[in-house]
Amino acid sequence: MSSNGNNILDKSIEIYDTGFMREPRTLQEAIIYFASPENCMRYLTERRWPNGVSCPTCGRADVSWLEKQNKWQCKSAHPKRQFSVKVGTIFEDSALGLEKWLPAVWLIANAKNGISSYELSRSLGVTQKTAWFMLHRIREALKSGSILKTGGHGRGPVEIDETFVGGKAKNMHAKRRNSLKLGLKGEHKTAVMGILDRETRQVRAKVVPNVKRETLLNEILENVERKSKVYTDNANAYDALDVRDFIHKTVTHIEEYVRGEVHTQGIENFWSLLKRGLHGTYVAVEPYHLDRYVAEQVFRYNLRSTKDNPLNDSDRFAFALTQVAGKRLTYAELTGKTTTTQA
Ligand SMILES: [Zn+2]
Repeated sequence: MSSNGNNILDKSIEIYDTGFMREPRTLQEAIIYFASPENCMRYLTERRWPNGVSCPTCGRADVSWLEKQNKWQCKSAHPKRQFSVKVGTIFEDSALGLEKWLPAVWLIANAKNGISSYELSRSLGVTQKTAWFMLHRIREALKSGSILKTGGHGRGPVEIDETFVGGKAKNMHAKRRNSLKLGLKGEHKTAVMGILDRETRQVRAKVVPNVKRETLLNEILENVERKSKVYTDNANAYDALDVRDFIHKTVTHIEEYVRGEVHTQGIENFWSLLKRGLHGTYVAVEPYHLDRYVAEQVFRYNLRSTKDNPLNDSDRFAFALTQVAGKRLTYAELTGKTTTTQA
């Protein structure tokens, strides 16, 4: 926290000390709470800068609060000295207020089987097109992007598996269908690869271009520590793991579904959840957008409540908000008119 009293939190604290305005714990409370722009500001500011506000351009904490503009000003001399809490987040450049954005994050972070743009549009009173764009921006924020590898020598086993998500040609944009040279009755399946660390109960999953040996092996080398116990099915693609310094065991689905500890049921359960969300909720998933749907489901799976780690809706929401900085998507990026850049 900056020491010279220039933080919004210093100015409006009395509003939040009333019992009624305690931080929300349910969707209903969230909608009431975030109807106040000041509550939105305060809540997001605390999650975004838990150690005090710092300039998104230069990183310095020497900033002053400009009451009238609802912005901070960095004391260093550089362009873009003034910034709002939205700058550098998925909310930047959006005409929509945080009173719409924050309940949307709440809904998406907590909807077990996902939420469609139609539902979101009705819940927030925005157009379906706007809701669709909000959904994708929020999903981008939910991508975990962990830089640490999973597993490790002497640690619990890691399950690895891949699945295919169908794309019926009739649900695709004509452009996409033509580029894949599909007729209206065709199908294009997209491969998703998943890694479940059975010790930490955390999943990572992403769309992969194919399930060739080289593709899968690269993902494993990037994500899994050498000397980890790795369980896969007996697909040929995983052969190379044996000679790559992993302790590799395979399960044959037909003959022996479960061989004691050696199974891939954890990651298969995750696939069921993913597919339930895709088939039950989403009207048509372009393979292009699938990676963000996967990220959304990974987010909820990794933050699900367990005996050891009881989490509630408000925890998931707060966690999602810590991820909103540095992940902006423009409309052009979303609609495939330019390449997506990732922070
Ligand atoms: Zn600065």
